[in-house]
Amino acid sequence: MGIIEKMRLDGKKIFVTGGARGIGKSVATAFAEAGADLAIVDLDVEEAKKTAKEIAEMNGTKAIAIKADVTKPEDVNAMIGQFLAEFDRLDVAFCNAGICINAPAEDMTFEQWKKVIDINLSGVFLTAHAAGKVMLKQGGGSIINTASMSAHIVNYPQPQCAYNASKAGVIQLTKSLAVEWATRNVRVNSISPGYMGTELTLNSPSLKPLIEQWSDMTPAKRIGKPEELQSICVYLAGDTSSFTTGSDFVVDGGFTSI
Ligand code: NAD
Repeated sequence: MGIIEKMRLDGKKIFVTGGARGIGKSVATAFAEAGADLAIVDLDVEEAKKTAKEIAEMNGTKAIAIKADVTKPEDVNAMIGQFLAEFDRLDVAFCNAGICINAPAEDMTFEQWKKVIDINLSGVFLTAHAAGKVMLKQGGGSIINTASMSAHIVNYPQPQCAYNASKAGVIQLTKSLAVEWATRNVRVNSISPGYMGTELTLNSPSLKPLIEQWSDMTPAKRIGKPEELQSICVYLAGDTSSFTTGSDFVVDGGFTSI
């Protein structure tokens, strides 16, 4: 079998949190194109249903929507239950749901801080932890967590201390789980995107000046497209990455190399 065939995800069962739109939707589409069946897990269940339908129709694979708030253990456990009832096993978890709140550090409220840490860091812990328990029992699996280049650098001048701290936490959480589970065939890696244009950011007139600024600051002189995260995630989900665990993959047009 050639390398491209080996990279396919035929028959794999995957969930994607924050999969209704943006990066999650794009990566979920790639997983399905590579042959996987999946669940789009999101707070916004109406959008998740639309995305799941679109993906299933496009690829002839199975795609369902599951409503869950990744900050709530009871939601995450119910989601895992629903997922296993539908698919029997869990091969890959893409723990991707996240938000950003911009505020100067001196003005950031504790509520804002907690909201960002809850979704971006505790949400990844809850979903990766629940997925890991299933995978350990079943004898293996791959977990991919979404961090950010903001885990590595401070993307001045946007003030976002909670976001930066949450994403740095995602990378250390990823490495910790990877080391603990390495001999039990559960791999855990993270991706660190740079500035990415999602439908939402690109269609927002108020964000246009910011996108110009981000493009200018990036060595590639443009922001990235969510599709540019697809191949690394398909690689991490599949069996050809069998010796890759505890790693973070930066995809940022050179931003963190400056
Ligand atoms: P997005 O806002 O387009 O999509 C996020 C999705 O997560 C939405 O569908 C939303 O409903 C869902 N969500 C939010 N809170 C949730 C919760 N508590 N439970 C379940 N679902 C929830 O965002 P995006 O740009 O696609 O970003 C996805 C991930 O990538 C985030 O973790 C983000 O921090 C990270 N990231 C984005 C960029 C970028 O430039 N877009 C760069 C680096 C990292």
